[in-house]
Amino acid sequence: MAAMILDGRAAAAEVRNEISRSVAQFTTAHGPIRLCSVLVGTDAAGLLYADSQHQRCLQAGIQHERVQLPESIDQAGLLAEIDRLNDDPGITGIMLHMPLPSHLDEAVAQYRIDPYKDVEGVNPANIGWLFYGEPIIAPCTALAVIELVRRSGHTLRGAEAVVVGQSRIVGRPISMILSMEMATVTACHIATRDLAAHTRQADILVVAVGKPHLVGAEHVKPGAVVVDVGINKVAVTGTDGRPAHRTVGDVDFDAVAPVAGAITPVPGGVGPLTVMMLLRNTVEAARKQLERRV
Ligand code: NAD
Repeated sequence: MAAMILDGRAAAAEVRNEISRSVAQFTTAHGPIRLCSVLVGTDAAGLLYADSQHQRCLQAGIQHERVQLPESIDQAGLLAEIDRLNDDPGITGIMLHMPLPSHLDEAVAQYRIDPYKDVEGVNPANIGWLFYGEPIIAPCTALAVIELVRRSGHTLRGAEAVVVGQSRIVGRPISMILSMEMATVTACHIATRDLAAHTRQADILVVAVGKPHLVGAEHVKPGAVVVDVGINKVAVTGTDGRPAHRTVGDVDFDAVAPVAGAITPVPGGVGPLTVMMLLRNTVEAARKQLERRV
């Protein structure tokens, strides 16, 4: 039987409607939700992303402002700007766009963001609360993966889950949330000796590595839910015979789809939902600021 396609775009559209309703309710009761995007320098991709984020926020009823800092700003200047936003009660969420210029320490800057305003969920305090099983704000990609698995109709509790890739912001938080949801989690990484021996045990297989087509049919148990987080640009020949690029995941979709029970496409799977999780986190951040624990 052909695998169920876990359509991230359709899921994102549903989540978008839920978010718009939550924003309207929150705004009526407590005032506006306001996200501030901080950009350092004029990286074209960063500006483009900030523009589309601006549109998405406005569509959801979230106010959005952009702080554009000069490329020459030093670490102290950047931290002072983050402190100013942390202290501004009118700003309920902060997102620091990456990459920063090489003279700035990205981790130190990200860690300075108030955990209650950290809409990306990357502050060590937020990762720590996740570890404790009491998240304030969790990383967006991990939330998107869980949302897609839930939508596949598969139960996490008691499932064998294998996560390939263990980066701080993607793979490890996914493993942590799956474990919180009472799945039995195996964490695979570059040093895993026999990857297929592990992945073939998985009821739920999440791949977040960044290597095109790392996972093939031989890695997948029949009927498994396969969530492909990878985003890779590969060179192809265009229809006009010229060199072009195509975006593919870490999973060989054509080979795995006939074996899997459910699978995410790339593009159109985890990516669109990750964007929505950022908006959902923005609402969550505003809500949690009303009931700060720490
Ligand atoms: P990373 O480079 O920080 O981490 C890669 C991980 O994969 C490491 O833990 C490494 O040990 C592991 N790995 C490398 N080669 C391996 C192999 N042969 N077998 C098993 N494990 C191996 O990458 P990242 O930031 O976690 O991103 C992973 C992928 O996810 C990238 O393609 C990235 O573009 C994509 N991504 C997608 C989204 C989204 O929303 N869809 C968000 C973030 C990242």
